[in-house]
Amino acid sequence: MNNTELEKLVHYQDIDLMMREAEEVEKTLGFQIEGCEKLQAAKEEQARHISPRYLNTYKRLRTRYKRPIVPVKDDTCLGCFAKLPTAFMGMGKTDQKLMTCEHCGRILYWMV
Ligand SMILES: [Zn+2]
Repeated sequence: MNNTELEKLVHYQDIDLMMREAEEVEKTLGFQIEGCEKLQAAKEEQARHISPRYLNTYKRLRTRYKRPIVPVKDDTCLGCFAKLPTAFMGMGKTDQKLMTCEHCGRILYWMV
C-alpha cells in the first residue's frame, strides 16, 4: 500500500479504538486506567499529521460506526460484507484518494 495518508488514518483509528476500549473498561469497573491521557496525547499528535479532509471524513463516519475504516478482503468490504465493483479494485490499490464503500460508506483500505 502506498497511500500513506490512509495509513496514518488507520493508525489514528487504532488509537481511537484503544481509547474507547479503555473507557468502556473504566465504566464497567469504575476505576481509572493508567495511560489513558497518554493515548489521548498520542491521538492528538497523530491528528496533526493527517489532512483535515481525511480527518473530517473519519469523524463523520465515526458517529455511525465504531470502526469507520475497514479492510478489504477478497474484493469484499469487511464492514458490511458487500462485494465491491471490479473498477474499485485497481483504484483503491493505487490511488491516493480516499475510497469509500458504496454500500455502507466506510473508508476502505487494501491490505497487502
Ligand atoms: Zn461496506
